[in-house]
Amino acid sequence: MNENAMVYLVGAGPGDSGLITVKGMRCLQHAEVVLYDRLCNPALLDEVSKTAELIYVGKNMGNHTLPQEQINALLVAKARQNKVVVRLKGGDPFVFGRGGEEVDALVDAGVPFEVVPGVTAGFAAGAYAGIPLTHRDFTTSVTLITGHLNTRKDPQRDIDWPALGCGRGTLVFYMGLTDIATICQQLIAHGRAPATPVAVVSHASTPQQHTLIATLADAAEQVKLQRVTSPAVIIVGEVVQMHKRLDWFQHRLIQSAETGAETISEPQIDAPTATSTDTKARKNILIFTGNGKGKSTAAFGMALRAVGHGQRVRILQFMKNDTSVGELAALSQLGVPTEQCGLGFVPKPEHPHYPAHKKAAAQGLARAAEHICSGNYDLIILDEICGTVAHGLLDENEVADLLRRAPTPTTLVLTGRHAAPALIELADTVSTIHPLKHAFEQGIPARKGVEF
Ligand code: SAH
Repeated sequence: MNENAMVYLVGAGPGDSGLITVKGMRCLQHAEVVLYDRLCNPALLDEVSKTAELIYVGKNMGNHTLPQEQINALLVAKARQNKVVVRLKGGDPFVFGRGGEEVDALVDAGVPFEVVPGVTAGFAAGAYAGIPLTHRDFTTSVTLITGHLNTRKDPQRDIDWPALGCGRGTLVFYMGLTDIATICQQLIAHGRAPATPVAVVSHASTPQQHTLIATLADAAEQVKLQRVTSPAVIIVGEVVQMHKRLDWFQHRLIQSAETGAETISEPQIDAPTATSTDTKARKNILIFTGNGKGKSTAAFGMALRAVGHGQRVRILQFMKNDTSVGELAALSQLGVPTEQCGLGFVPKPEHPHYPAHKKAAAQGLARAAEHICSGNYDLIILDEICGTVAHGLLDENEVADLLRRAPTPTTLVLTGRHAAPALIELADTVSTIHPLKHAFEQGIPARKGVEF
């Protein structure tokens, strides 16, 4: 190992790519190898040099792409090749990030390292949901706790519930969504009032941020009803009351939706991250649009091609809800996961069923964001998403924002009529299929193996 070898454990921050530190950004720009995981904003990878090696190491609760020991070994191995290595971790590397174990392995191997802190999710959630985690009127302390209870049968074993139950300190649970019912029950059982305010902040600091306000008595039920998705932190304590008054970010989101502004989370002053990623030519984004037959079929053809190369493919179908079509059976035989997130024929906006279609589309987009940002796929097809935007079920800017945040190595294919200008602008390949004739016009009904 020569003096070039170095590992930087860098905190990527919670979601908004602008929240990485200046030092963390410099490390990324100089890295020769970057190991990153699921919760890192993929836009940060655009800052990495084109010659650098990017390695996705997964890390999703309970679903680690690489076991921790292998990540540790990889860090050591890359440093021993005299590389400048960045280990980019969501939030802060030393808060529930197993950064301690990675650094421990580096010490064992005699590899030099630095730790660059990041904004941890709990602090970002407090800031972006307008909840000061400490406040002179309410409490003087805050505790960060893992809500991932290994010992479900005996939840008392890994968490000191009596200590958390007494007092008025703010509690911030990470990884707690699955076990929120147990968390709330235990806090009540150990002394917190059932009426204690609770905030569940999901996707903090991103355009998908959602803040659910409840109490210890009903938070678990509300999470289910409102279908809150991870990542989310649970904030418990009287400080949650402040949300009502200080919730600046949600207002910004609503404002930007109304005005069509593209970046909601960047301050008006100097916004280097937003501009540098927006102007960069990047991404593999293809659109098949037009009124002719063959848009989805072209996309399925690409799925076939990708599977042939051993690539990982996923398909999300917007608006559609017909599971009897031939392609679904074939794709399932090929092991390509396909989800339908639609309710079928879209009625006019004034129709009473229209809001249900809108909700289904929004849920589909959230699922798409999850899969795209996971880095788990080489090709993702968003079938009929252009038509969904054209029907007003999805906002063009929201979809464009997701495309911008997609990791560069993932190919995205969008299909559907009337592709919106913002989407066309972002794509590198756009084909319009013009109908010269259609069998349907000659009275020929839809045929098995041809139209479905
Ligand atoms: N090292 C990270 C935490 C990793 S553990 C940090 O300091 O933030 C993963 C957990 O972090 C998730 O289960 C969730 O509880 C929380 N989390 C990460 N990103 C989040 C986000 N944008 N919004 C809300 N919670 C988030």
